[in-house]
Amino acid sequence: MKHRFTISLQNRLALTYALFISGALGLLTAAINLFTGASFNALIKENIHQKNEEIVRVIGSLYNPLTGRFDSLTVEAMGMYFVHEGYIISLEDAWGNLVWNARSCDMQQCVEVLKGIRSRMEAQFRLNGRMQRQGYPVFYNGQIAGTVSIETYGPFFYSETETQFLTSINRLLLMAGLILSLLSGGIAFGLSRSIAKPVLNAAEAARAIARVHSRGTNPERPVIRIRDQYHTGELQDLSRSINELAAALEAGERRQKQLSADIAHELRTPLTCLQGNMEAMIDGVYTPDKEHLLSCHEEIIRLTHLVEDLHVLTGLEGDTIKLNKTSFDLATVVQTAAEQFRAAAHEKGIALQLNLRESPIEADHDRLTQVFMNLLSNAVKYTDSGTIRVSIEKGPQRWDSIIADTGMGIPEGDIPHVFERFYRTDKSRNRSTGGTGIGLAIAAAIVAAHGGTITVENAGNEKGGSGSVFRVAL
Ligand code: ADP
Repeated sequence: MKHRFTISLQNRLALTYALFISGALGLLTAAINLFTGASFNALIKENIHQKNEEIVRVIGSLYNPLTGRFDSLTVEAMGMYFVHEGYIISLEDAWGNLVWNARSCDMQQCVEVLKGIRSRMEAQFRLNGRMQRQGYPVFYNGQIAGTVSIETYGPFFYSETETQFLTSINRLLLMAGLILSLLSGGIAFGLSRSIAKPVLNAAEAARAIARVHSRGTNPERPVIRIRDQYHTGELQDLSRSINELAAALEAGERRQKQLSADIAHELRTPLTCLQGNMEAMIDGVYTPDKEHLLSCHEEIIRLTHLVEDLHVLTGLEGDTIKLNKTSFDLATVVQTAAEQFRAAAHEKGIALQLNLRESPIEADHDRLTQVFMNLLSNAVKYTDSGTIRVSIEKGPQRWDSIIADTGMGIPEGDIPHVFERFYRTDKSRNRSTGGTGIGLAIAAAIVAAHGGTITVENAGNEKGGSGSVFRVAL
């Protein structure tokens, strides 16, 4: 046997959720980084540009028009201040003479500051920039007073404050990502468990049902049902169908048990009668005359009929009996069957009314005859007075044969069961009416084999009794 790799539903769901959520989180973080990073860098570049302009403005304000020189002391003070911020400046006057240069003022300081910026940008932000120099003219009254050249790490750099800000933002994002991952992991686990658990329960219940039913029909055996209520439609449906399956299995077993008991019961009565008669004759209590032998013969015929009926029914239900279909007029079948009961009806003082019409049909002639014989025999048997009306009506794409009597009728509660084997409305199940109790079951099976339906309902009649109306749709 090949062993295929299997993964539990819960693990599969948890894995899918986790992959999906971490993928979504990753994408979200990348998008945040991309968009905020780009706009932050644009803002930084704009800041550097504004700082350059501010430096030019500040240096410009240090020009003294009277002397035509810059206030070199203040230029130095300001220049060293700008060096700390990462701006290395040098200033020339209008004639190109060097006024002040940060590098020649304090080379060590400039190198330190630039080294700090470079290591920050390269190590923390993976930006391999290089020094950039830009020259700006300094104007006074529309005249060039000098030129400031500003050297910075380019294309841009972060100040210490900006670096701190970015680091804390990154830390925050990392923390949020971690918390979200943990949370989503928990949710994934909980969700997958809540979906997998009912499925596992259903599988366990199905196994338990199989176990219990394989042990046979022990009356002590437990009734297995899934009692949990689920709020997911499909899961609710699954547990409901398992429960229905269990109920159907139990009902099937009950029916089978009932059937065996019924058959045993039906066989026992004529057999006991036969046995009694035989023993009486052997013991010399009865003389084996024609009368006693006829009584035994009657019981044997009854038994033979019962066994034959059961055989026919099993064949029809099990699809082993093939229908011998021919074309004929349904009305002739109904009429022939009805005529056979005319004498019996007359004897009981019941009127037999026929209202038939030509109704061509393709069906099994003999089996349909049996259906109407069974229905008419019941109508005569269960009617004491009144009328039996037999008619044929045209329905949509079918013929409706109706047999309506004014007899005892069938109680509403028995109507759904009268087509079951051995079902009798008189629960005492005595054989006084002489029937085997499977006439309607046979009729229903024959009609079903033809793709038709047979139904019964109660009908009030002029005498106030209920009466039954059987309708065969073919
Ligand atoms: P049975 O041999 O007992 O007549 P059937 O299968 O033919 O068996 O009928 C089943 C039961 O349905 C009967 O026992 C009877 O209680 C009821 N029944 C059938 N036909 C009629 C009817 N026309 N009127 C009243 N009850 C009927």
